Amino acid sequence: MARITIDGKQFETDNGRTIIEAAREQGIEIPHFCWHPKLSVSGNCRMCLVEVEKLPKLVIACATQVSDGMVVHTNNPKVITARKAVMEFLLINHPLDCPICDEAGDCKLQNYAYDHSIGYSRFDEDKVHKPKRVDLGPHVVLDAERCIMCSRCVRFCDEIARKPQLTFTQRGDHVQLTTFPGEHLDNPYSMNTIDICPVGALTSKDFRFKARVWELSSTETVCPGCARGCNMLVWVRNNEILRQTPRFNPDVNDYWMCDYGRLNTFRQVHAETRIKAPVMKKESGPVEVGWDEAIALVASEFKGFKKSQIAVIGSAYATNEDNFLVQKFAREVLGTKFIDFLRHDLDGDEDDLLIRADKSPNGRGAMEVGMQPGNAASGFEGILRGIKEGQIKALYVIEDNIAADPLVAQSLSRIDYLVVHSPVENETTRLADVVFPASTYAEKNGTFVNFQGRVQRIRPAVATLEQDRATDGFAMSRLDMFGSPFDRWAKGAKIDARPTWRIIAGIASLMGVKYRYASAEEVFNELASTLEAFKGMSYRKIGVRGVALHLPKVQAPAAPMHISR
Ligand code: SF4
Ligand code: SF4
Repeated sequence: MARITIDGKQFETDNGRTIIEAAREQGIEIPHFCWHPKLSVSGNCRMCLVEVEKLPKLVIACATQVSDGMVVHTNNPKVITARKAVMEFLLINHPLDCPICDEAGDCKLQNYAYDHSIGYSRFDEDKVHKPKRVDLGPHVVLDAERCIMCSRCVRFCDEIARKPQLTFTQRGDHVQLTTFPGEHLDNPYSMNTIDICPVGALTSKDFRFKARVWELSSTETVCPGCARGCNMLVWVRNNEILRQTPRFNPDVNDYWMCDYGRLNTFRQVHAETRIKAPVMKKESGPVEVGWDEAIALVASEFKGFKKSQIAVIGSAYATNEDNFLVQKFAREVLGTKFIDFLRHDLDGDEDDLLIRADKSPNGRGAMEVGMQPGNAASGFEGILRGIKEGQIKALYVIEDNIAADPLVAQSLSRIDYLVVHSPVENETTRLADVVFPASTYAEKNGTFVNFQGRVQRIRPAVATLEQDRATDGFAMSRLDMFGSPFDRWAKGAKIDARPTWRIIAGIASLMGVKYRYASAEEVFNELASTLEAFKGMSYRKIGVRGVALHLPKVQAPAAPMHISR
C-alpha cells in the first residue's frame, strides 16, 4: 500500500494505481479527455497535468503511478495555468459549432471550456479545415474538425471490440482519424465509440440531428436484446424513444452495449404493427373491442373447458412478475399442469464480450418463477402432442410468437380457443381468438434475470393509455417536462397496452380468484416472499445495478425446448 496526499487529503491506496485512479477512488475528479478507466493509457491530451511535490515538472495523472509519501496538487495555480493552456491549444482548430453539434449539452470539451478555459480565443488566424461528414461505417459518421485526437475510439476498437479498424494519418494539426485502407468501422460494438468520444466528432447515423440532449428524458433500464441484460438508458422525447445508450454496471456490461441492442430493441415499441387495443376474432374478421368485454369473454370461455384441456405458454420475453402470475393463474385458477415456455437461441451468435446466443432477456427468470412443467409430458412438446391428439383444446400464450415456427403454427391452427398477449401483430396473433395488447419492456415496471442469475429492473420510459399507470410507478413528473401533460399525452400515448400481470389479474377476478396487486412491485414482493431464490429482495434492494439470485450455485438452467431464429 502507498500512503499519499491529494489536495490535502491523506489516504492509502494500492501500489500500482495511477494518480488519476487513486483520486477517483476518493471522489477527486481530475479533468481528462483521453484517459478512460477501461482503456489502456495513451497520455496524449495532457489535460490531467498535476503537480507532484519534489518533481521538477508537472506530470500527467493518468500515466504516473502513486508512491509512498507522494503529495499531489490537482488545483493549484501552476496546474490551473497549465490546464488553461491545454484547453486553449485544443480549441485553436476546433470549429466551435456547438449550436449544430449533437454532443452539445453532453460534451466534455464544452463543459471543460466553461470550467477550465480562459473564456475567449486569442487565435485570429484561419483554422485548419477538415471533412465534416466522413462515413466511417454503417452506424457512425465522423466530423474530423471536431476530433481532438484523443484516440479513445482507436483503442476501443483495438482493445475491447478487438477489431483494429481505426487509425490516424498525417501529422501535427493535420492529423486525421480514419479507417485502415479497405476497412470500415463495422463491428458489433462500433457505436460505443460514439459514447466514449469526448467531443461531437463521432455521431450516430440513427440519432444524428434528431434532438438536443436537453430535450430528452432518460430512464435507467435493461436491454431486452439477449440474455446478457446490458444496463442502459432509454432516451425519450414526446413519448418516443430516440436512442438507447449503455449504463455502467461492472457486473454485467461495464460501459458497453452492442449495436444490435442499442438500435433494434426499441423499434417494436413504435412499430406500425403495434396492437393498439384488445382484438377479438368475429365472423366478419378481427375487431377491436374494449378491455372489459375482452376480459369477460376470455374468462367465460375458459370456464367452459376442462382443466385437462387447457395449456399455458409463458415467455422468456416477459418479466418475472408477468410469468409468476401467469403460472400461478395457470395452476390455481385454470388448474392445468401443461405449462412451459420457449428459449430463443441464435446458434453461433455469441462472443466473449457481451452478446449471448440466447436472444431472450428472461429465460432464466421464467424458469426461476415456476414457468415450467412438472414433467416432460406436460412440457412444450407434450402440449403440441396434446393439441394434435385433440386432448388440449384451449391455449393461453404470453408475449411470444411461438407460431413463427411453421410446425407450431400448424398445431395452433387445430386449437379450439387461443388467447395471446402480444405487443405486436405476428404469426401467433393472427391465429388467435382474442389478442390482448401487452406493454413492452419500455412501458412497464418489472424485473428480468440475466444469464448470470442477476435480477435487474426494467422501468417505464414511455406512456401507454393505461389509465392507472401512475399507480404502477410511472414517473408522472416526466410527463410534465414539456408543457402540459395532456398535450404530451395526446401526442405520444396512443397504445392501450397493459402489462401481462394486470390482464391476468382481471381474468382471474372474473373466474372467482382475486389477485389484489396494485402494481408490478406488489407482484414482485409476493414472489420474493415465496421463492427462495428471490428471498428478501425488493425493488429498492435491486436498485439500478441489480442483485444476484440466492442460489447455492448459479447453474445454467436445464434447457426447455429451443427455437432457433
Ligand atoms: S473521434 Fe473522438 S474518440 Fe476518436 S480520437 Fe477523435 S475525439 Fe477521440
Ligand atoms: S449484448 Fe445483449 S443485452 Fe447487451 S446490448 Fe447487446 S443485445 Fe442488448
